[in-house]
Amino acid sequence: MAKPSLRWSVGAVEIIQIVEMEDNELFSTFIPEAKQEKIREIKWLFPHFAKENGKLRALIQSFLIKSNGKNIVIDTCNGNGKERPNMPTWGNLKTDFLKRFTDSGVAPESIDIVVCTHLHFDHVGWNTKLKKDKWAPTFPNAKYLFSKEEYEYWIKKPEKEMIDDFNGIDDSVTPIVQAGLAEFVADDYRIDENTRLMPTPGHTPHHISVVIESQGKKAIITGDVMHHPCQIARQEWTTLVDTYPDQTIETRKRFLNGVKDTETLVIGSHFASPVAGRVVSSEQGLEFRV
Ligand SMILES: [Zn+2]
Repeated sequence: MAKPSLRWSVGAVEIIQIVEMEDNELFSTFIPEAKQEKIREIKWLFPHFAKENGKLRALIQSFLIKSNGKNIVIDTCNGNGKERPNMPTWGNLKTDFLKRFTDSGVAPESIDIVVCTHLHFDHVGWNTKLKKDKWAPTFPNAKYLFSKEEYEYWIKKPEKEMIDDFNGIDDSVTPIVQAGLAEFVADDYRIDENTRLMPTPGHTPHHISVVIESQGKKAIITGDVMHHPCQIARQEWTTLVDTYPDQTIETRKRFLNGVKDTETLVIGSHFASPVAGRVVSSEQGLEFRV
């Protein structure tokens, strides 16, 4: 049985977690420095974000934002039935994600806006689903916002990137463009009076995070500025899947500096439940308090 979705209120805005899957294996290999013994040194990661043996806990999940009467989805996970030869455990899935989505109280037809923090395959997958053997928009009444420059980067299929992401462009982004539902925006685009994009480049060239502000409250959905809370304590730990590792570290430090010791709720895109918390300084460095 899936656990009930977490929900957060940020002023008048509601944010709902929709989990696609848990993965405790791949993330431990993504961050090569996050060895089990190094993780055990970061005490506050337990029990939520690491297992007793020092393996990382992580999720692949979407966030549904209800703002000003509009339904906005942030990131769309892996999707079902997609070919991902490099990371087969995230390909050819058959999850009940759409059922969970509907169970959260909003049908896919009622989604107004879809935002992808970047165009890696695990953030675009449910943009589309199979309909009569073709990839068709899962959210037929939505406009899908893509960073214009992020799109321009990936559509060229740069040699240094991997096939799974190119497949993701072909099966989960291009069909949206062809259906006329894509809108290409700047990296600091404002969605509505409560929500806006914030440029956080490095993991991919035009990666963005999503800022939610309402009635004096603030939250940020990170995207992959960090893959795991261990990178709050060890900011220089990069992943194997960063386009520009040095810029990722710079961006992560700037991001964490901006939220530390504030009331800003940080919602980690791959963080295990409880997913959201505040960044606080301690004698050992920065911590994540849930
Ligand atoms: Zn990701």
